[in-house]
Amino acid sequence: MTTIADKLQEVRTRIDAACSAAGRAPDAVSLLAVSKTFPAEMVARAALAGQRAFGENYLQEAVEKMSQLGEAGLSNLEWHCIGPVQANKTRLVAEHFDWLHTLDREKIARRLAEQRPAQLAPLQVCIQVNVDGGANKAGVAPSEALALARVVAALPGLQLRGVMSIPEPAPDFESQRALHLKARAVFDQLRAAGLPGAERFDTLSMGMSNDLEAAVAAGSTMVRVGSALFGQRAARAG
Ligand SMILES: *Cc1c(COP(=O)(O)O)cnc(C)c1O
Repeated sequence: MTTIADKLQEVRTRIDAACSAAGRAPDAVSLLAVSKTFPAEMVARAALAGQRAFGENYLQEAVEKMSQLGEAGLSNLEWHCIGPVQANKTRLVAEHFDWLHTLDREKIARRLAEQRPAQLAPLQVCIQVNVDGGANKAGVAPSEALALARVVAALPGLQLRGVMSIPEPAPDFESQRALHLKARAVFDQLRAAGLPGAERFDTLSMGMSNDLEAAVAAGSTMVRVGSALFGQRAARAG
């Protein structure tokens, strides 16, 4: 039987091989374990195997898991919101998460800044960029990323950390890499802009179970991996 510890090791080996192929240090890329739809018990097993950072898409589900894990004595995990956030749900993000990867609107940024409790560290924020131009996809256009980054960098309670993207699935390594390079270009542009707090602008969140090698080749610093760790997700009702 393959355990979560084995799966973590397998994915880490893939990341290390991709780093080595790209001439990058293995510790240049961190692993976010995407635990959406999986029960707290599986998060606990991954945590006991050494994984600390977890990504969740559905806010209510995530908050329930956090409280179950807290009761089980696992309150030192790092929680990343990687799903879309509606304006009426920002409080859940502000009060419970360490990171938000999917910021794409000024209105959401302002609400989060207002609602982030003062006793918590600033919310670590990535701006989601829509690199394929899909009209009904989340994310700002690459040309709008800098303007939003300036807003975030100036707000209290938020720390601008980088850029995130979810490109459409592409059939092969080269076409995956080409899309990831578009997000990389935005990341480089924002990093060069000298925004306040720029010394902490260090995160390019891209790459999932099926394309992490291409993402690492394009400069990803954080891959978000779900199914390769936890197995196929059941279709989600509602
Ligand atoms: C579900 C999800 C992932 C993980 O996808 P896998 O293909 O299961 O690795 C990564 N990022 C985001 C934004 C997701 O919604």
